[in-house]
Amino acid sequence: MVVVIKKGTDEQQLYNLKEWLKSFGVDINESKGEYETVLGLIGDTSHIDTDLLSSLAIIDSVTRISEPFKAANRKFHPDDTVVDVNGIKIGGGNFQYIAGPCSVESEEQITYIASEVKKAGAMLLRGGAFKPRTSPYAFQGMRADGLRLLEEAKQQTGMPIVTEIMDISHLDLFENVDVIQVGARNMQNFELLKELGHTHKPILLKRGLAATMQELLMSAEYIMAGGNNKVILCERGIRTFETYTRNTMDISAIALLKEKTHLPVIADPSHAAGFSRLVKPLALAATAAGADGIMIEVHNDPAHALCDGPQALTPEQFKEVVDDCNAIRDILNK
Ligand code: PEP
Ligand code: MN
Repeated sequence: MVVVIKKGTDEQQLYNLKEWLKSFGVDINESKGEYETVLGLIGDTSHIDTDLLSSLAIIDSVTRISEPFKAANRKFHPDDTVVDVNGIKIGGGNFQYIAGPCSVESEEQITYIASEVKKAGAMLLRGGAFKPRTSPYAFQGMRADGLRLLEEAKQQTGMPIVTEIMDISHLDLFENVDVIQVGARNMQNFELLKELGHTHKPILLKRGLAATMQELLMSAEYIMAGGNNKVILCERGIRTFETYTRNTMDISAIALLKEKTHLPVIADPSHAAGFSRLVKPLALAATAAGADGIMIEVHNDPAHALCDGPQALTPEQFKEVVDDCNAIRDILNK
């Protein structure tokens, strides 16, 4: 971190500042020029609040040289992290399809979709039990009953289950859940992230609706700082000025996150697109960009789905996406 001190700052103020900075355990390299004094901070500056530092009267500017995320940073952990979900690996060259309905709606619905997506090539089953809906009048999910039905589908198919947690007070209910999803709306629910950092379950962390890549990585850092390194990042589209799509799929995030972090990065084209016919092209693009997996919403009867029907694929359509993404992967692996 480079800190430029304003011209005319008196020695005592500069001394006090340096003592305060040293209390964070950093070394200071001071260079006094004719017009300004520059402090080069060496060491771990992640505990220094740059906004607070910038606001001090004697500071001209503060520039971070190194990135504030440490545990998630590829610089300190060059090898890909492989997240193992009951023997199914994600990351480090292992690519997986996660599929299932937006919401669990009934026993017949979830067990039927589970067996169909498994046949089509999905290795993990997704399904929402606790749903974060924009309207309080919309279907809120089957909650604990939904989790129970997911567990039944898991027993029948052997597929690990992925489902969203919205409140840490529900954690006990997630005992048999294999991957806990943190939805876009909770990406910066820091208390939730901290608690999930103390669990041993893989966490699928979705990018917030208007979150930068660095904010996503800092949220992963919250989980990892608690000791849980099993974090899977998910690009699911961000909010832009565009209205033809539900969100804008940020393909560059997939390629760039893979540079910045060793964590697996998967893509959710369903929530990016908002309508089914765009899901396949976005899935192909994400695969080509280097994603470690794809998560897709699949429904047996999209027109009557209780949540996110317009973007749901039928099992047959899902199978086509799997076949085409596999073809892209074959080209990449040549
Ligand atoms: C979901 O996966 O159904 C969901 C609600 O996703 P997101 O948090 O990305 O909107
Ligand atoms: Mn959904």
